[in-house]
Amino acid sequence: MNLNCPVCDSKHSYLFLERKNTPIFQNIIIPDQSVATQLKDGKISLLACQECGFVFNGDFNENKIIYNQAYENCQFHSNYFNNYVSGLIEYLLEEYKIRNSRIIEIGCGQGEFLKKLVENPKYGNYGFGFDPSYRGEDILFDGRLSFQKDYYSEKYIDIDADIIVCRHVIEHISDPLMLLGNIRKALRNPKETILFFETPCINWILENHVFWDFFYEHCSYFNMNSILTAFSSSGLTIRQINHIFEGQYLWAEAAFDSGTGNRITQEPFCWREFKQVIDNFVKVENLMVNNWRNKISALHQRNYKVAIWGAGAKGVTFANLIDPNCNLINCAIDINPNKQGNYIPGTGHLITNVESAVRKGGTHAIIMNPNYMSEIQEILALKNIDLKLIKLM
Ligand SMILES: [Zn+2]
Repeated sequence: MNLNCPVCDSKHSYLFLERKNTPIFQNIIIPDQSVATQLKDGKISLLACQECGFVFNGDFNENKIIYNQAYENCQFHSNYFNNYVSGLIEYLLEEYKIRNSRIIEIGCGQGEFLKKLVENPKYGNYGFGFDPSYRGEDILFDGRLSFQKDYYSEKYIDIDADIIVCRHVIEHISDPLMLLGNIRKALRNPKETILFFETPCINWILENHVFWDFFYEHCSYFNMNSILTAFSSSGLTIRQINHIFEGQYLWAEAAFDSGTGNRITQEPFCWREFKQVIDNFVKVENLMVNNWRNKISALHQRNYKVAIWGAGAKGVTFANLIDPNCNLINCAIDINPNKQGNYIPGTGHLITNVESAVRKGGTHAIIMNPNYMSEIQEILALKNIDLKLIKLM
């Protein structure tokens, strides 16, 4: 196990969570149930660095993770998510005034975010998306937007980017400093380039006891302090950092200007306080897992059929922790049609649409991410479907 902090190299790390037999991938299309149930050879040993607060999986093996076109993590079927992303796009285009710029998106998925940044020709922006899991057309918008089914690297220095967008990528990388160093090497004018990063906030997970938000794909978890430490060690100055998405994510704006730009003042990191947050989480984690298992089991015994709503990383992790043998939870509901008809990695629960879940007798659904509660209520009202919704938090 790696005990040294990949961000600050401190040897003082604190092991607080261990899980065996977890699925390697959470967001992967698996049309075969027996294949799905075999995909659970991941080991998670989460360590918190006592010097900088970075949290990492000391047993992460990057050779196990290969992102390809079976990777499916599109959230744009949700109106709530679309509105959230539209807010970010508006901020970048209207408040940040991104015009006539060459924008690179690292880990662009199916390109939805980048398309929104580039689609309006009046802004004169050009987009270059990088993602090995990209499945769409290579060129769009009369050549103003192009995609490479590849990782971004020095090979693409000719693009001469003005803007880098890197959303929900850095938490998948076991050596975040290497990622930041590689980005710098791939930029012709690193001092002129503005970088935008989005990543989950570890403090939100710990403070809200979201035990179903720790999973193998995410080997690196940041808070304000560790992201500032990682960026400053890489020659990046953070110009702004905020919590977004109801506090679940961190949004950081940075530049490789070696401290000459506006600098965020960094509060000294307090290990004692962070350890308290971790220990509070650890204290309730097993209790919460058992409580949920008992609660679902009690409904099951009364012949109710319980689904989880959301077959993304949170839903997959919840199913694996609560019902690893697939005999309590009936199915997983997801509005992404690309996921429907496939199976949850590790457990083999069927992923389906809400109509089908109810047709097969579904009576209850547990909501995996509280941000989607109102949208789910609206969907049920619109479709006139009677399903009792259960909040996880
Ligand atoms: Zn550290």
